[in-house]
This record gives sequence, C-alpha cells and structure tokens, in this order.
Amino acid sequence: MDWRSHALIGAVFALAAGFLLGTDGILQLIFIGIFGALCALIPDLDHDASKGRQWLDLAAVGFSAIMVTRSGCGEWFCVPGLDGLRAMAIAFLALVGVYFLFFRFFKPKHRGITHTLVACLVFGVLIYIFDGLTLGLIGMTAYFSHLFADQHIRLI
Ligand SMILES: [Zn+2]
Repeated sequence: MDWRSHALIGAVFALAAGFLLGTDGILQLIFIGIFGALCALIPDLDHDASKGRQWLDLAAVGFSAIMVTRSGCGEWFCVPGLDGLRAMAIAFLALVGVYFLFFRFFKPKHRGITHTLVACLVFGVLIYIFDGLTLGLIGMTAYFSHLFADQHIRLI
C-alpha cells in the first residue's frame, strides 16, 4: 500500500476517533486530519530510500514541529535556562536528529518493530506525554490504521 492510501486512511481513522472523543470545530478537525495522516505514515519509516521515504522524512519533520509547538515550554521537555522559543527550537532539532540518527544506524527491517501493537502503544504514550490523552488516543488510532491497512497486526 502506498503512502497516499495510508495517509488517507489515517486521516479517516483519526477523524473518527476525534469525533468519538467529542472534538468539534472545523480548525480542530482539519488539524486532526493532517495529524492523523502524518501518524499513519510513521510505521513505514522502515522503508528503504524511495519516493515514499522522502515524503516520510518530510512527515517526520512536520510531526516534530507539531509536537514541539503544542508541548510548549515549562514542561518536561524544556531545556533549563532557555526561553520558550529557543527551548522549542532545541527540542525540535533533538526530535529530528533522533529520527535521522535512528534510521541512519538502526533502521529496522521492513514491517519489523514499527509494525507491531507494542510500537503503536509506545507511540500513543509518547504523544500522551507531549500533549495529553485526547491527541494520544487519536495518534494511536491513526498509527493502528496503518497496521490495519497493511493487514499486518502483530503484538511484538
Ligand atoms: Zn506498512
């Protein structure tokens, strides 16, 4: 399945979850749709270099930007002694850096660890830590939509 289908299915799953969790307002729904599309691309980060992978790199950068701007400063991710904007910039670079280093040195085999329910849960918990329960559940649902669409649902 190509990245477009995954993004679309992820957006639909995320919107459904957002609706069930009582989200309303057109801006909220647009955000959730985009967020869901990005989350649904994450499991295929283990693909080899390809057109899709280039989009995924962009998706990872966009995803980091969303997480950092929404988490703000003064929480666990804040760098001591720095004001909000600089702390956010450093958090953003750290997230993007971790992403690229991880796939430079530890790229998992395709449909390996990223295509498991455990990864899905970890992903949801990470978003929960950044942003709270609602977005955590929506992100987890979108991530799960990818495993569902791949028909590749394993625990670990
Ligand atoms: Zn996949």
